[in-house]
Amino acid sequence: MSGMMPGRGVEGLDKLAIGAAEKKKQQQEAALPPPSPGAAPESPIPPTPPAGAGAARPAADSPTPATAPAGAARAASLTTVPPKADPSGATMRALVWRGKKHVALVRDHPKPCVTDPADAVVRVGKAAICGSDLHLYGSSMPGMKSGDVLGHEAMGVVESVGPGVKSVRPGDRVAVSFDLACGACFFCERGLFTACDVTNPSAAQGAAYGGRTSGALGYSHLTGGHWGVDAEYARVPFADTNLLPLAPIEKEEGAAAGGAITDAQAALLGDVLPTAWTACELGEVGPRDYVVVFGAGPIGLVTAQCAAHRGARRIVLVDPVEGRLAFARRPGVVLRSKDGAPSSSPPPCRLDCVHVSGSGGAGMEAALREVARLSEGEPAGAPDVAVEAVGMHYARALHHRLQLAAGLETDSAEALNACLRAVRKGGRVSVVGVFAGSANGVLLGAFMEKGLTLRGSQAPVQRYWRELAAKVARGELDPSAVVTHALPLERAADGFRLFDEKRDGCVKVLLDVAGGGGGGEGEEAAAADTVEGVPVVALL
Ligand SMILES: [Zn+2]
Ligand SMILES: [Zn+2]
Repeated sequence: MSGMMPGRGVEGLDKLAIGAAEKKKQQQEAALPPPSPGAAPESPIPPTPPAGAGAARPAADSPTPATAPAGAARAASLTTVPPKADPSGATMRALVWRGKKHVALVRDHPKPCVTDPADAVVRVGKAAICGSDLHLYGSSMPGMKSGDVLGHEAMGVVESVGPGVKSVRPGDRVAVSFDLACGACFFCERGLFTACDVTNPSAAQGAAYGGRTSGALGYSHLTGGHWGVDAEYARVPFADTNLLPLAPIEKEEGAAAGGAITDAQAALLGDVLPTAWTACELGEVGPRDYVVVFGAGPIGLVTAQCAAHRGARRIVLVDPVEGRLAFARRPGVVLRSKDGAPSSSPPPCRLDCVHVSGSGGAGMEAALREVARLSEGEPAGAPDVAVEAVGMHYARALHHRLQLAAGLETDSAEALNACLRAVRKGGRVSVVGVFAGSANGVLLGAFMEKGLTLRGSQAPVQRYWRELAAKVARGELDPSAVVTHALPLERAADGFRLFDEKRDGCVKVLLDVAGGGGGGEGEEAAAADTVEGVPVVALL
């Protein structure tokens, strides 16, 4: 899931453009068994399929046939029953959603156990707060319930596995994918993991979009009601597909040894880096390209880093927060430092930053003029690729703010329109900022008349993460360069506040789950000064 603009939740699936019928379905979803293990049913979420409608969900060693029939049969193949509590009665620390701008650490949340034969339970080491988490935090998203465990970006160590799991064993160090894919359905077989048909039982989303996306960890009941990873333990369905085994680290304060991937890097392998890479894939960013990225949040910054790695000769970052642009200019954030650059690194890349100043639509108009000025002398007079790393709720112009407030649109197309205008004729526009429903005033004329290619997607993490892990291990990419703050899980609520309010230069918050407060009941977090070299901030 991707980046966001300050002060506004921009990601998620709320405010879906749904009609009365869909709303009814949504209400039915809200009536799904709560993620309380005590209330979890013994059988999968979907009811028994109608006679002749198709087979039940696949066993781990018996993948869903690619030719699975549509409709009821496909729904019947849904798996991922809600997590169950460990029968031992063990509990864990977990960050739960309570309501708008209210998250809380609980110490007695039931520990999940292997619920399905293809499951693994992971002991979480590091987790990260995502821009999309702020959307859950900042608004009342349909499908969220008080007590839901938050978080979808994490790494850890496998604690236990079901009998159907083949690729990981207890003790393995792993990265966790935010999107949950079965690995065997029609879509997974084609590498379209975020379109997996099996892991998300949400009827409302399917009705609104004409097809469901995959499930996701810790992201409301609209994406499956899976418990999140901001907890000591996380249950990961289809572990063979959704966990990436990593080399063990010769542990020394989490630092890399022998080219291994740090815990912080591993935590960003399941969303941030693949999402940024997806932005470049969709935009077909290649050698000698000139790229403009709208949004300098974690995704925009790492997208720029990936673009430079792929040989882009020039990048312009556009954002309304000067501090983020100043951060982007630091060595290693977008442009890899000399020390971190491999010998095969591409030719130097020029980075320019454009500040969107003021309020209202005039700021973006001025920013577009600045991009045009920077493009003078370019062969095409404009960037080859524009990346939308902003998302749905970014609205500066008054008429968009009013339309959003009135419910006349769920998303603002201002940043998308900026991409359509900024890019050269025949250029490519890549959308990884999250949009939920409909947007008014989309500049279709520019899209069609300029002959643009427009593509968008959530990141099919499992498609890229092996390749990306190798690049990180070789020092070619480093998503952890955007981490500005590290906190123990006990301070996660502070981290959400800091990130939400964009205070203290906050770009990305890393949560140390394994290291803090795990020693016993009521024990406070370990007073570490740093987490993998990132200073633990002193929050007032
Ligand atoms: Zn994320
Ligand atoms: Zn699938």
